Amino acid sequence: MLKVEHVTKYYGENKAVDDLSFTVKDGEIFGLLGVNGAGKTTTFRMINGLLDISSGTITIDGQPINYDLTNKLGFLTEERSLLTKLTVKEQVIFYGILKGMEEKEIVEKLDEWLNYFHITEYKDRKIKELSKGNQQKVQFITAIINEPKLLILDEPFSGLDPINVQMFMDVIKKLKKQGTSIIFSSHRMEHVEMFCEKLVVLVKGKSVLSGELKQIKKEYRKKNIHIVCDEVDITKLQKVSGVLEVIQNENEIVVKISSDENVSDVFDFIKNCKNVTKFAVEDATLNEIFLEKVGASYEE
Ligand code: ATP
Repeated sequence: MLKVEHVTKYYGENKAVDDLSFTVKDGEIFGLLGVNGAGKTTTFRMINGLLDISSGTITIDGQPINYDLTNKLGFLTEERSLLTKLTVKEQVIFYGILKGMEEKEIVEKLDEWLNYFHITEYKDRKIKELSKGNQQKVQFITAIINEPKLLILDEPFSGLDPINVQMFMDVIKKLKKQGTSIIFSSHRMEHVEMFCEKLVVLVKGKSVLSGELKQIKKEYRKKNIHIVCDEVDITKLQKVSGVLEVIQNENEIVVKISSDENVSDVFDFIKNCKNVTKFAVEDATLNEIFLEKVGASYEE
């Protein structure tokens, strides 16, 4: 289990991370979110022992981060950090050895992963000759070659087509099942929603929203109602109690309401419309919650 307790990090006078606390249990996928410059990379680097902490503690299974522990971590950085003049095999061996592995074991594991990602033919090719998506696969393999206890994935799906996103997702879910703790960071909220049970949102290094995703959604009272029907008077619908916004899409209308208490008001209005074939009340998306919470904190 990873425990981050009251961690603060200064760069000179600039406080990049401000009294941050969270825990990630074994087999849990945790979202660390925030806009650019919020302090995510700084936090990842402190967890990896690459940066000193100004105050607070970070422990894994009760032990402060040290050199032995970092061998058990995996880190997929947002920026590509591959040695592009090396071949795929040389690259992965290089990182595996840095993580304290034997070459034989690295090559065995590498062969399995190359096969899984259908890129066996690139094993002895220079990384710079690979497409962006295949480079991302190599970077991912590098991060998981040591079967990490804690895996940090910063924008893991960047540059990937939907089929490869699915492949990565399957591996991430498998690692979770095996008990790996995973920290996932992305600006794509739909990906975060798919994976993360718990999350923290940072603004200027400080947590502005944290907890279980289900609970966060429950507590956020605003809802979206998706409606399909004929001939609805949008101007009148906009005036129904609790309606914040009505969005007319190609195939349906989305009504944003301020609280679940207003569902019946919208329902009473819609039931008089012709041919109602859909009336679905949904929680606000994480993207909507993120925009509101982060926006509000920016204005403070
Ligand atoms: P992004 O999403 O853009 O990658 P981030 O959430 O990872 O952003 P950080 O890179 O951790 O944010 O930056 C947090 C703050 O610390 C920013 O104000 C940034 O300017 C500052 N910062 C980051 N690295 C350094 C450094 N090496 N020296 C000084 N200040 C830094």
